[in-house]
Amino acid sequence: MIHDACGYTNVENNTNSSEGNEEPNIHATKFYKLLKDAQTELYPGCTKVSKLSFIVKLLHLNCLNHWSNKSMDELLIFFKEVLPDGSFVTTFFYEAKKVLCDLGLGYTKIDACQNDCILYWRDYANAQLCPKCGRSRWKSQEHKGKKVAHKVLQHFPIKPRLQRLYMAKETSKKMRWHKEENIDDGVMRHPSNSIEWKSFNERHPTFSDKIKKCPIRFSKRRIPTLWKYEYQS
Ligand SMILES: [Zn+2]
Repeated sequence: MIHDACGYTNVENNTNSSEGNEEPNIHATKFYKLLKDAQTELYPGCTKVSKLSFIVKLLHLNCLNHWSNKSMDELLIFFKEVLPDGSFVTTFFYEAKKVLCDLGLGYTKIDACQNDCILYWRDYANAQLCPKCGRSRWKSQEHKGKKVAHKVLQHFPIKPRLQRLYMAKETSKKMRWHKEENIDDGVMRHPSNSIEWKSFNERHPTFSDKIKKCPIRFSKRRIPTLWKYEYQS
């Protein structure tokens, strides 16, 4: 899993290259750390879960059940108390979430107008007031000496996610399916057999000819899973 997620399929070659006085780059460093965590027992004598698999499972449960950050912090404190000394359970949930970034599944935060007029990025990245409605970007009260935005957009960049899909052997094959294995014999088996899809390919030949450019279809239901608003407390 780690090899696929990080795009390294030959650890020995990478290990050898790092022996030649060459410092591993930031991606390789993250990869070796994940690999080490995947091989580290959660606590001395634990054979069922590793340090990494414990965090991944915990994040999965958190996502499925919509547990709050506060409940996760308290759960981790409880795990820390009941597990034997020397365990690698993190004390705070935000530390566990950093693993998501190393796996390429993190997200970026973009401040937004309280009335949804604009996002504070590009031309408005340094604006203090909304140019359309005039509302302040910030709350009146600061948190630990830092300004707090009224509203924050959590943006899940699609590019690194697509790159991850092409890095893994199994998913890469499926990503190339539309070009390599899609059968067009007049029978409607897949949306790509539809007239609309073919029309898109005809209008954008430079896109459709590239095997690594996969068509993406968005639906209104799916869009909220790509980004969501977060109100600062
Ligand atoms: Zn506004």
